[in-house]
Amino acid sequence: TVRTRVAPSPTGDPHVGTAYIALFNLAFARQHGGQFILRIEDTDQARSTPESEQAILDSLRWLGMDWDEGPDVGGAHGPYRQSERREIYAEHVQRLLDSGHAFKCFRTAEELDAMRAQRQEAGNSMALKPSDLKLSDAEAAQREADGQSFVIRMMVPEEGVCVVDDMLRGDIELDWSQVDAQILMKSDGMPTYHLANVVDDHLMGITHVIRGEEWISSAPKHKLLYSYFGWDMPKLCHMPLLRNPDKSKLSKRKNPTSIMFYERMGFMPEALLNYLGRMGWSMPDEREKFSRDEMLGNFDIHRVSLGGPVFDVEKLRWLNSLWLRELTAEQFSERFAAWGFRPERVLPVIPHVQPRVEVFSDVAPLAGHFLGGLTALTPEAFAHKAFDEEKLLAALQFGLWQLEEIRHWSVEEIKERMFALAGQMDIKVRDFLYPFFIAIAGTSATISVLDTMALLGPDMSRSRVRHAID
Ligand code: ATP
Ligand code: GLU
Repeated sequence: TVRTRVAPSPTGDPHVGTAYIALFNLAFARQHGGQFILRIEDTDQARSTPESEQAILDSLRWLGMDWDEGPDVGGAHGPYRQSERREIYAEHVQRLLDSGHAFKCFRTAEELDAMRAQRQEAGNSMALKPSDLKLSDAEAAQREADGQSFVIRMMVPEEGVCVVDDMLRGDIELDWSQVDAQILMKSDGMPTYHLANVVDDHLMGITHVIRGEEWISSAPKHKLLYSYFGWDMPKLCHMPLLRNPDKSKLSKRKNPTSIMFYERMGFMPEALLNYLGRMGWSMPDEREKFSRDEMLGNFDIHRVSLGGPVFDVEKLRWLNSLWLRELTAEQFSERFAAWGFRPERVLPVIPHVQPRVEVFSDVAPLAGHFLGGLTALTPEAFAHKAFDEEKLLAALQFGLWQLEEIRHWSVEEIKERMFALAGQMDIKVRDFLYPFFIAIAGTSATISVLDTMALLGPDMSRSRVRHAID
């Protein structure tokens, strides 16, 4: 039976690209009466967080997706979180060491840097090969005896051509000379993506790997690993990446990429899912509006077109309006209330609002921007004695760059960066924050802008500041 999976890394806000790939995996599995699995790839312990994992699960559920096996629902092939599968990877990497398909690499960072510098100078491929890295048995034994740390790398051919079969592209040829002796296990015993991904896809019985195009260059390593283990390789299907309207790869610097942003903007999950289904794919009759079940009922992976699909928020708004118009007044009212006034949304705002109001009717003027999206702003609104136009733009732009840098969105982190920037620009903090009040809330007569940004989340905050700059 067909088994597909989506394998997000919980290292940030849930990405619309993840939902897009998940949707196509789900559709393919359902079309074939198979199963769809969700696996969490959290081997990068420094960047993975439980909050991010929870947000990914919540956002995919919000979009109306369901999976047959996963960390939250269990299943016969668990655990479904890679950090809980370390012994499995250790066992498998040992098999590769025993069969001579992997080797311990004792090269130090300095040695590796020197090798790379030499290659760059000689104009050679930057891929480091086993022949570059392997030490004589005696030297390797010596370094091991000295207690020097090591990583485990895979053997790779020096040259020749690797042919990878892709469901959408047919045969793709890649040059072995470009493929390095990939690290499979780090010195701390954590596997890298490549090892964990191949081992898990095999053990979880995955038959079709549908993932982003960015992974094509990894396919030769994976193919090799399957052959080293003596396993059949799943069929591969690389989906075109989502693009910004200017055709560059969709990125949060140009477009909000977090699913949570679209929820906060008040898109209907049905509409966002519908739009993701139109990324590179269309219904046989080309209709624009279709439900999840209509898509699953008509799915055919061979209808995916490889031209980079553009994720255009204006188009998505239009599609959402079609969905909204079809609601009855009762449904609209219910969904609007559920969107704007459910306790998880309202409760965190209350402690900031309650001390500042005398009657409920004071709430909307004070905190209405929590329900808003990107509102019209005039240049006059930003007028302030501490800023001329140039300084104002600089403050907003530098501020935006700081906001884009933040990995763990919290009021402390926002505050620290904003205060530091005010210091560098030699502007009093109070004055410095003024344009951010306007950009974020439209007024400075409201609750702390730092708290507001923390509550609104990264994508909504960045979008409002970017909108103010534009
Ligand atoms: P950004 O450029 O916005 O920082 P990123 O590439 O760093 O994005 P990641 O956080 O690395 O994003 O990716 C999160 C998930 O989203 C990954 O699974 C990745 O494959 C997927 N993804 C990222 N960008 C795209 C895209 N343009 N199209 C489809 N999927 C994407
Ligand atoms: N963890 C990888 C990602 O975040 C999975 C890639 C794959 O599907 O093989 O995209």
